[in-house]
Amino acid sequence: MTPRDIAEAGRLVRESRYLIAFTGAGISAESGIPVFRGPGGLWRKYRPEDLATPEAFKRNPRLVWEWYRWRMELVFSAKPNPAHKLLARLEEKGILKAVITQNVDCLHRIAGNRRVIELHGSLRRVKCTRCAYKAEIRAPPKEDLPRCPICGSLLRPDVVWFGEPLPEGELREAFLEASKADVVLVIGTSGAVDPAGLIPLYAKKQGAKLINVNPEPNRYTGIADVEARMGAVEFAKKIAIVLGIGEASLG
Ligand code: NAD
Ligand code: ZN
Repeated sequence: MTPRDIAEAGRLVRESRYLIAFTGAGISAESGIPVFRGPGGLWRKYRPEDLATPEAFKRNPRLVWEWYRWRMELVFSAKPNPAHKLLARLEEKGILKAVITQNVDCLHRIAGNRRVIELHGSLRRVKCTRCAYKAEIRAPPKEDLPRCPICGSLLRPDVVWFGEPLPEGELREAFLEASKADVVLVIGTSGAVDPAGLIPLYAKKQGAKLINVNPEPNRYTGIADVEARMGAVEFAKKIAIVLGIGEASLG
């Protein structure tokens, strides 16, 4: 990425009529939450893809809960970083219209974004595997196998597992936002998980420009209008200067 690319990203953001952000695990990596794919994304000998499924939970709920308690602990101690804060400042300024996220850490809301579409649920909620019980949590459950206070069935994290459908309302809203967007800031996602990964492609098809922020090549490399080959925090600090957003307000 050259200074000209940063200037071009800044110009696209400044001149946008309807800017949206599409984010993935990479935007939270510098908040200390590991990503799934790419370096540093491993947990023990298991692959997340083998743990984050309804079948894995049926087979070994204890193991799945152990993994989720560990992820919940990371998420509960994490704080928004300058990249989350940049998006909050852009929304405050009326430039950014919505954040569509695949993340389950809630860091966009904690940073101050109000218009957040969470496609994959939240690690700060649990739900019953049987009845309609759902609850916000402030810490990971202490029990090995937490149970529903209403019906006694197993509780599970309120996240979308591989093979499960995405929440319908959120998915519809996300595609609606993508159809309105003229610029999409794609930050920290491999784009590998569909249908979420299709959202930037759909926006592009409708005429939007894509700014792709990622230290590694991903699904949008070669399609994006600006390729920012760097970490989310470095990008946030650089574009903040171009946009005249005080770097201090990202601290
Ligand atoms: P992913 O793990 O597939 O990809 C992460 C991407 O982030 C990679 O392309 C990687 O190159 C990039 N990246 C790594 N460090 C970065 C940095 N400092 N700045 C910018 N980008 C960086 O993640 P995904 O695309 O979000 O999809 C995986 C699924 O995993 C999602 O459905 C999500 O629900 C879940 N997940 C969420 C969290 C979270 O909530 N923080 C963490 C891990 C996984
Ligand atoms: Zn129940």
